[in-house]
Amino acid sequence: MIRATRPGRLVLLGHPVAHSLSPRFQGAALARAGIPLAYEALDVPPSELSTTMRALRGVHAAGNVTIPHKSAMALLCDRVTPIAARTRAVNTFWHEAEELVGDNTDVGGFDALVATLYGVAPRNARVALIGAGGAAAAVCEAISHWDGARVFIVARRPASASALAERYPDLAARAGSLSEGIHDATLVVNATPVGLTGDAMPVDPELLPRDAYVIDLAYRAGETAFVRAARARAHRAADGLAMLVEQGALAFERWFGIAPDRTAMWEALGRTPAAPG
Ligand code: NAP
Repeated sequence: MIRATRPGRLVLLGHPVAHSLSPRFQGAALARAGIPLAYEALDVPPSELSTTMRALRGVHAAGNVTIPHKSAMALLCDRVTPIAARTRAVNTFWHEAEELVGDNTDVGGFDALVATLYGVAPRNARVALIGAGGAAAAVCEAISHWDGARVFIVARRPASASALAERYPDLAARAGSLSEGIHDATLVVNATPVGLTGDAMPVDPELLPRDAYVIDLAYRAGETAFVRAARARAHRAADGLAMLVEQGALAFERWFGIAPDRTAMWEALGRTPAAPG
């Protein structure tokens, strides 16, 4: 059971970090819960992560970690949860007395996103996973609990796709090419930053198999071009906003031991909560 020490500061560490929506919805959740803390976004270059964490230990800080610090943070923690150990990435941390603890709530966030598309996790899914970084590892971890699923990883550096696949040998394999990975996919997941800004797409939507579902972990106002294009071709598709909100809600639970008001979090983003199924 988690017994987080009440944090003296609540921070998001990233580089860059100014674009993050987390301060908006975490601020709303804190206000609704009557917790007198601000959620501060700190732009921390990689070379300054360990010094920053040393200072934050002094106030038993808690918070989130985003690009590019998730792997490095896993190594700085005194202890990580089994999920963070398997994904080798920490996106959420807190203190238990003097111990710095790391977790990965992106996995639960992905589960929530899947629930908005499918209701319950599909059986025998054939997943084309584009990208092989930290978010792709969270996707593999979540899908490793699905019944009969196979994941084919496509990455611009084949060695990184192989390395991730080797960590999930019963689930995943490297696809030799994008077309090999995607040709009979029932679900296509974009876990690259392609489409975060601008209208570039990770996959030509014309290559999507007819009944494939589409998940884009990227999110932006008005949704990503990939999600819009997939939907225009009658695919069920969702961007990463539901994952973002849920990973934040799960983090809040780790820090404070209470559930945040998820509706307030969605409202702070000007959206209504994504409904399951
Ligand atoms: P990461 O660890 O840096 O991994 C990114 C992956 O994408 C790597 O495989 C990288 O390849 C590849 N990549 C980067 N730029 C590319 C390009 N232009 N074309 C093709 N491949 C490219 O990042 P991450 O943490 O996994 O995040 C990936 C995406 O997921 C980001 O858009 C992030 O915002 C999103 N995300 C969303 C949520 C959410 O809550 N919705 C949570 C986590 C992440 P190389 O290794 O060759 O660079």
